[in-house]
Amino acid sequence: MNHKLTAQPALIDPFGRTVNYLRISVTDRCNLRCVYCMAEDMTFLPRKQLLTLEEIEIVAKAFVGLGVNKIRLTGGEPMVRNGIVGLCKKLSSLNGLNELVMTTNGVLLDQHANDLAKAGVKRLNISLDSLQAERVKQISRHGQLADVLRGIEAAGKAGFERIKLNVVVLAGVNDDEVNDLAEFALVRGFDISFIEEMPLGEISSHKRKDTQVASLSLAQRLAEKFDFEPENEPAAKSNQLSNKGPSRYQKVSGYTGRIGFISPMTDNFCSRCNRVRLTSEGKLLLCLGNEHSMNLREIVRDNTNAEADLRVAIRDAITRKPEKHHFDANKTDIVRFMNMTGG
Ligand code: SAM
Ligand code: SF4
Repeated sequence: MNHKLTAQPALIDPFGRTVNYLRISVTDRCNLRCVYCMAEDMTFLPRKQLLTLEEIEIVAKAFVGLGVNKIRLTGGEPMVRNGIVGLCKKLSSLNGLNELVMTTNGVLLDQHANDLAKAGVKRLNISLDSLQAERVKQISRHGQLADVLRGIEAAGKAGFERIKLNVVVLAGVNDDEVNDLAEFALVRGFDISFIEEMPLGEISSHKRKDTQVASLSLAQRLAEKFDFEPENEPAAKSNQLSNKGPSRYQKVSGYTGRIGFISPMTDNFCSRCNRVRLTSEGKLLLCLGNEHSMNLREIVRDNTNAEADLRVAIRDAITRKPEKHHFDANKTDIVRFMNMTGG
């Protein structure tokens, strides 16, 4: 059946927010074990519990039919999922989708950057928590800085519209590197976002309350080195970050790249939330910081009418999107790890 996309009213939740952005975790597996994201010993889902690539495509199509115009592929590490490039090709050609983007740890990017760009991935977020090889190993448990740097270089040449580096800042671990990391990104024409660590999943490597760093203190430190453009300077001048979207970007004089802050712990941005998340096992998560979810796998699997049934289920789920998260670094109310959730 050919559903007219324009005939479908937008997805609007009970708080008046339009949901037009879907993040899909294509796998819970990863080639790293970052200390803030995973426990050292992780048990991953049996493969038959994962959505197949075809099922992911059907769910994505249903969302796009409901007005979702941006999809981010994430994980786990999206590049460890076999067939990821083919999936990107399929998704990027969905009628109504404006942007297919991806978040990756960069380890396998030097092999895949060109193929991903050709397959229609427009922008990449690449995680880079340190420029020091020993620290990268300490934070990611397995990672080699050299691999990530090769990946970043390959991505820089592959023709993506934009590249952003993501840094999770941990006090006493990498917070002394924010200026160096910002410079690394800006001289290459990349954006960079500094992210506050969220209490998702029980970890043993550190106490999350001891490693918290507020974005505002980082913004003030960065303002000593970089010249934020006047309309974007509130971090330094008025003790406030600028106010658009979950990631708050600031322009920097002399560079095309911007510095952003993602501040789930110190500055609740939920009133501007426009997204939902699909886990690798097909659960639709309505909020990163709440457990409200709907199982879409049981709707899509072995169902010849899946797309239509999914649309009904998704509309129903959106009526239960929570108003906000309530993160507290002193406790882990949300037991699922970030690799399950799809960051
Ligand atoms: N493996 C890919 C990567 O690392 O970019 C994609 C998945 S990862 C879960 C997505 C993003 O979530 C990364 O930028 C990562 O640093 C971030 N992240 C993971 N755990 C986090 C946590 N507890 N708090 C804040 N950000 C976290
Ligand atoms: Fe893997 Fe990304 Fe989690 Fe690190 S943050 S363990 S790279 S999924």
